[in-house]
Amino acid sequence: MKNQEMIPFEKAYDIVMNSVFSTGTETILFTDSLNRVLAGTVSSDMNLPPFNKSSVDGFACRKEDLDKELEIIETIAAGNSPSRTVTALQCSRIMTGAPVPDGADCVIMVEDTLMTPSGKVRFTGTFKKENIAIKGEDVKKGEIVLMPGRIIRPQDIAVMASAGYTHVAVSKKPLVGVISSGSELVEPDQFPGISQIRNSNAFQLMAQAERSGATGKYYGIAKDDEEETYQVIVKALRENDLVLITGGVSMGDFDFVPSVLERAGVKIQFSRVAVQPGKPTTFGIHDKAIVFGLPGNPVSSFIQFEMLVRPLINEMLGYQWRQLNIKLPMQDKFTRKYAERLAFIPVRITDEGSVFAVEFHGSAHISAIPEADGIISLPIGVKTIEKGELVSVRQI
Ligand code: AMP
Ligand code: MG
Repeated sequence: MKNQEMIPFEKAYDIVMNSVFSTGTETILFTDSLNRVLAGTVSSDMNLPPFNKSSVDGFACRKEDLDKELEIIETIAAGNSPSRTVTALQCSRIMTGAPVPDGADCVIMVEDTLMTPSGKVRFTGTFKKENIAIKGEDVKKGEIVLMPGRIIRPQDIAVMASAGYTHVAVSKKPLVGVISSGSELVEPDQFPGISQIRNSNAFQLMAQAERSGATGKYYGIAKDDEEETYQVIVKALRENDLVLITGGVSMGDFDFVPSVLERAGVKIQFSRVAVQPGKPTTFGIHDKAIVFGLPGNPVSSFIQFEMLVRPLINEMLGYQWRQLNIKLPMQDKFTRKYAERLAFIPVRITDEGSVFAVEFHGSAHISAIPEADGIISLPIGVKTIEKGELVSVRQI
């Protein structure tokens, strides 16, 4: 088999990102668009606010009259239009959100006024601001209010509603096929017999795919049998944009996933990455789909998905993803014995804002990962992180 050379993580990352293709766009109801990636611009079909709007409950009047008693000429409720122009020594009672009448250049808050026995209004406060939101001050008609490439959040849905959008273009969710490989695996509803273990990776990967904005489809467990593995790989390649196979990529006698991939027409780009954990991570390109062979060990599979698969899915979605580079101090000194590979270390963020490495006994220690809030990395050649040293944390 080709491409068995161990390559640095950065090179693997570039190869993965250079293989990206877009899954296209679709138009959906804006109320269904939460967590999807916006694929077009959203621009407003009107000025916002659409008119000069009172931002308080009070009295609309002229600043120059603030030291005088004012006659109330009408009441303007939100949703109503003023019918009269405010002139000297006059004011209109006005509610928050109602249009400010012509002639008035400020609104005084009801809390800052007194009613005289003759039914007039006197300002008792000190003037601070107009309390008028000017037409178009938030958004001008035609202005772009949302740019493509963002994950749609509730606050964006409010912007779409104000801008008059009932439908929006979003990126289509990539289809991700997930296959488990290994004769020792049984499904979660089974109690494993001697020498069997439960299949945890497939469901972890399905959930990671969904969390990344893709649609996961599960293809079951392929036994360590070449023909069975080949059949399920071919089917998954036909039906998905991305295929994830977990297990069968190490150097054991039955780890033939890479050779089966080649037989299925996949061009293997790499099959060894200088990372810890996750060295046997395999990556290949097929006419129809992109394929990852992920390590069988659950911690390795989890981390390699976060480091390589998730960025790829982001790119396929056109999500303008920017890794948040949070720098936090190490709570304790951390050391490792060997430094030939780039290490990814699951860490916990404490309430005090420091991080500590989550204790894990190897890449099969599945209960360690739920303790972690993030991943830090330790470059090749570096064995120690000192107590108090700042580390970049990627949240998971
Ligand atoms: P492999 O990459 O097939 O050599 O598997 C490496 C280790 O991960 C072995 O201990 C497997 O039993 C375990 N493993 C493989 N696949 C899974 C899975 N789907 N869920 C949990 N553990 C697995
Ligand atoms: Mg195996």
